Amino acid sequence: MHCPKCGRVMTGSASRGRHKGYYPYYHCNSTCGVRFKADPVNMLFERHLKQFVPKPGMAELFTAIVCDAHKESGGRWRKE
Ligand SMILES: [Zn+2]
Repeated sequence: MHCPKCGRVMTGSASRGRHKGYYPYYHCNSTCGVRFKADPVNMLFERHLKQFVPKPGMAELFTAIVCDAHKESGGRWRKE
């Protein structure tokens, strides 16, 4: 998926929340500073976290998951 502000590819990452363990978010690869929680894929991501221990390469896996979820959500983050 791409940044709604600058159009660059965005990266999915996971941060530690205070109560619920990890939560996913997207951040832009450029300096425009766009970053937001990935709520629509929260449950999907958490389900995967229960199956896999986070490790290097997880970001790529997550990106693939996010892209699929993004398509299923109707692409409402895209500005077309
Ligand atoms: Zn951007």
